[in-house]
Amino acid sequence: MSGPDRSTIWPYRDGEPGDFYYARYDHPTGVEAEQALGEFEGGHALLFASGAAASTAAVLGLLAPGKTIALAEGCYYGTSLLFRELEPWGVRFVEFDQTGPPPEEADLIWLEAPSNPFLTFPDMEAATSHGPPVLVDATASTPVLFRPLEHGADVVLHSATKYLGGHHDALLGALVFRARETYDRVKQLRGRTGPVAAPDTAWLLMRGLKTLEVRVRRQSETALELARRLAEHPRVERVRYPGLGDPLAERYLRDGFGGMLSFDVRGDARKVETSTRVIVNATSLGGVTSLIESRYRWEGDRVPENLLRLSVGLEDVESLWADLDRAVRA
Ligand code: PLP
Repeated sequence: MSGPDRSTIWPYRDGEPGDFYYARYDHPTGVEAEQALGEFEGGHALLFASGAAASTAAVLGLLAPGKTIALAEGCYYGTSLLFRELEPWGVRFVEFDQTGPPPEEADLIWLEAPSNPFLTFPDMEAATSHGPPVLVDATASTPVLFRPLEHGADVVLHSATKYLGGHHDALLGALVFRARETYDRVKQLRGRTGPVAAPDTAWLLMRGLKTLEVRVRRQSETALELARRLAEHPRVERVRYPGLGDPLAERYLRDGFGGMLSFDVRGDARKVETSTRVIVNATSLGGVTSLIESRYRWEGDRVPENLLRLSVGLEDVESLWADLDRAVRA
């Protein structure tokens, strides 16, 4: 793995463009990272400047005016805000409970495995037996735990800003396609509209992939232990975590349930998030540092006011537990 090639141009050979000629269409570091991710997921990968850019490309590339997206309710709030932005262009969306079958009217089924911050897991069989293409945002499970293409999905989406990059220092998105034709179509769209990943962030993705498996396993183990302890805690009303007996997560996930959980505290969530000392009060998830935040500030009444989302990092489980226990009592 050499360093990133930051060039935006590569000279023509004998007066003709070679594999690389202008960085908006392709660059060597991006292609190398796409190959690594594609092999991991079992499909054809494309990188984007962010997860939101990947989502936008999926909508523009897979749909047309007059079409409807069936969106898993309770999924990443930014995805529904993005779809709202795109409504004037004629694409509408309806929300549905992804633990059951999607609505009949869907032209694209958009799942999240597991949803952020409600942690529901989709019923893949119900979604894929329906007919329209199925996209799974698998940001929170990663290909270590779940490969949606193996369960009948057509497209996988990642905010690679999260676990794939893994260190809170790379803003990056990815789509991975089962069908070569869909990949070609969206690649053409990406080249013409321009939301490409920079070589440096593509390089950081390759570095992140080298440690992804050990990170995700460790984060999953720690998250399960914290979820179990939080569920017993007198200051906690409710814990959402796929590892606490979700039959769909048990059916589809392998070797762990991921590093993200949410819980409702008895009391003021804002006080809890500002009382932790090890766990950082910041948005995002999936990095080596544990993060906590009240989601009510962003999502309003869509989430309980006392809900906290916790992204478990690589710190020692006992120091995380001591921090949480102290903060929920604050
Ligand atoms: N999908 C999920 C599940 C996310 O959590 C996020 C961001 O939080 C996104 C997509 C959007 O990704 P990005 O912030 O990289 O644009």
